[in-house]
Amino acid sequence: MSAPTTARPAGADELAEQVAGDLIAPGDPRYDEARRLWNGMIDKHPALIVRCADADDVSAVVRFAAARGLPLAVRGGGHNVAGTASVDDGVVIDLSAMRAVRVDADAGTVHVEGGATWADVDRVTAPLGLATPGGVVSETGVAGLALSGGVSSQRRLHGMTIDNLVSADVVLADGRQVHASAAEHADLHWAIRGGGGNFGVVTSFELRLHPLGPEVFDVNVFYPVEDAARVIAGWRDAVAGAPDEITSAAFVWTFPVVPDLPEHLRGVPYVGVTAMYAGPVAEGERALRPLRALATPLVDMSGPVSYLDKQRSLDPYFPAGLRYYWKALYLDDLTDAAVAQTVSWSARRPSDRTLVVIRHCGGAMSRVAAHETAFGDRSSEWMLSIDATWDDPADDARNIAWARDYWDDAHRHSRDGKTYFNFPGLLEEGDAAVRASHGANHARLARIKAEYDPGNLFRLNPNIRPAT
Ligand code: FAD
Repeated sequence: MSAPTTARPAGADELAEQVAGDLIAPGDPRYDEARRLWNGMIDKHPALIVRCADADDVSAVVRFAAARGLPLAVRGGGHNVAGTASVDDGVVIDLSAMRAVRVDADAGTVHVEGGATWADVDRVTAPLGLATPGGVVSETGVAGLALSGGVSSQRRLHGMTIDNLVSADVVLADGRQVHASAAEHADLHWAIRGGGGNFGVVTSFELRLHPLGPEVFDVNVFYPVEDAARVIAGWRDAVAGAPDEITSAAFVWTFPVVPDLPEHLRGVPYVGVTAMYAGPVAEGERALRPLRALATPLVDMSGPVSYLDKQRSLDPYFPAGLRYYWKALYLDDLTDAAVAQTVSWSARRPSDRTLVVIRHCGGAMSRVAAHETAFGDRSSEWMLSIDATWDDPADDARNIAWARDYWDDAHRHSRDGKTYFNFPGLLEEGDAAVRASHGANHARLARIKAEYDPGNLFRLNPNIRPAT
């Protein structure tokens, strides 16, 4: 008899009989590929990965892990920088085979399976001239992004992804399958709109669609970094009070050293402004013109673009496998002092790959009151995102320290210290950050957690502990 090729945990053979999907354990030739996450800094070795085929598979795996007291991770697109989509010596529910997308034209919604990426969604909806607010990099998973908020390129007109979450199918900690909407399990529907993966495994999302495109006007203008303070302050003043159709961000980055860039730009730091107008192209061209004249640009790549192409255009800049440590903070206001701080820390980025972004929020995002979704307070118009990115493991400590020091210093401009859990670093702040970010909603979230997951099975996330 030949030796078994994989080392499956006890009971896995019985589980394999119950599920339609694939079991992948150490020793399986697919194991190393299957355990890999987007962030190359994360290197976890689960005892078992189950690539589920449907919600019944998910129920079976949830019951399997719960019965054996095994740590359980849930993987949507595998993009979260904290690496919570995997776990050492535990079980991973891998939803990457559950990616179906179906438009319900009568309801004006799209049904999206729990393992889909934004590429899967946009591919179906964009040709119809429809969109739901999602991520700006197409390989990002819908699930993780949607459950913790979701800031898109149309956030000021159509709100966050959670504001468009009409209903969801959820597998609970005891394996039961429920439908959550305003009419059924309304408390669960409230909690998953900002409470992350704390309450169960979402196997299907129903998201509201809006007319958009197929073409939109898109601004991508890059100015000399020496003009950073003037450009960021000018951008701030130009977008204050702008119509909701305009969603924009200012950022400091460095041009990559690649042959298709003109030689004088390669490796040069710059300050950029990006914006999209979610309306007619000609109107957008007019409305966005001031953002293209904040100084003398190094290069202006603005113009009409198909929304589908726009959604894919950033993918090459965020490849899987690099080392990523991203942290975010909502700022009270973008004062001149906050602009100066952005310029000063950006000038000290330890890696050219590191990006510092300030996103303009407000608009429809901020018209949802804090108590209406688990996400909590939306009064801040500005989100700072510190996206430390580098290649060499030997540089981990230096890059992480820079990002953390910057993030700590930025708290001078953030009264509540509200962070965004889709850019959570390595979740080092634990419970304190969870409480600060959910604010007055935390007590209600803890009660709902106690009802749906009293044993805290779903704890590999910005964890909300069950109320006692
Ligand atoms: P995963 O790593 O698979 O999951 C993260 C966590 O979500 C899991 O640990 C689990 O707790 C939970 N989870 C995942 N799937 C499920 C499920 N089906 N049911 C229940 N819980 C689940 N965010 C924005 O808001 N806007 C952006 O434009 C944006 N752009 C990004 C671009 C890049 C390149 C990257 C890396 C991230 C970006 N993000 C953005 C952040 C993104 O929202 C988070 O990384 C998010 O967690 C990714 O979702 P995922 O499903 O890929 O994550």
